[in-house]
Amino acid sequence: MAPLPVADFSLPGPGAFDSHTHMDYAADDSADVNVGGLLDAARSAGISRVVNVGCDVLSSRWSVKTAQEYPEVYAAVAIHPNDVAAAEPDRAAVLAEIESLVSEPRVVAVGETGLDYYRDHSDPGLQRQWFRAHIEIARRLGKPVMIHDREAHDDVLSILEEYAPWPPYSVIFHCFSGDAALAARCAEAGYIMSFAGNVTFKNAQPLRDAAVVAPPELILAETDAPFLTPVPHRGKQNHPALTAYTIRYLAELKDLDLDGFCATLRATGDKVFRW
Ligand SMILES: [Zn+2]
Repeated sequence: MAPLPVADFSLPGPGAFDSHTHMDYAADDSADVNVGGLLDAARSAGISRVVNVGCDVLSSRWSVKTAQEYPEVYAAVAIHPNDVAAAEPDRAAVLAEIESLVSEPRVVAVGETGLDYYRDHSDPGLQRQWFRAHIEIARRLGKPVMIHDREAHDDVLSILEEYAPWPPYSVIFHCFSGDAALAARCAEAGYIMSFAGNVTFKNAQPLRDAAVVAPPELILAETDAPFLTPVPHRGKQNHPALTAYTIRYLAELKDLDLDGFCATLRATGDKVFRW
């Protein structure tokens, strides 16, 4: 992968971090990923930590192993809502392995879990069962839940409500995809909204309105790489360094001083991930 030049959007030190990425998807085979190269590029953009997120057992294991090898990498582990149908025949064993991985010290969240009503890879009722099972693991082990919510806002919120009250900084909406009204509801509940590069997309005005409404101390920034490359780099492969670009964009959108916004992101990251 040809690295993008990062000099034009690097953050002032000590910078910030990428709250959600999939470095293992940067190559066809996760064994071929140049993790050191991705982390070097991130560091030179002022992104000094990344949370690598699992979607199935293999990517969850890869995330934990990589977090154990690289001090800048932390892990989140879970079965993605689109992958629960494939895991269903082995549900008990899979959830037992996820729970055992969650207990590893380098694992900072249970994710990504949640509901995806946009794709039909897994039955919605089955997704809800697995979402609840992941929430129960997160609550048992005292780690935050990192949520994938695609066209399922109402059901995600009502399932979260079943488990209320939530401790502060324990619910993260990864790749937040709601509008200003949903951002206000999340802010009211104390949920974290993690914005990805799609906030820069031309057709994303409702998402920009949400980012304006979201309180700075409840915001995180992520790449969801290799997906969702921010404008003006669309068409190239996303990677953790580009979190810096999205952070700059959010600071400008919210009319926040960049240094202060990075400090707020770091403080929120400390509270959510306790790294
Ligand atoms: Zn993701």
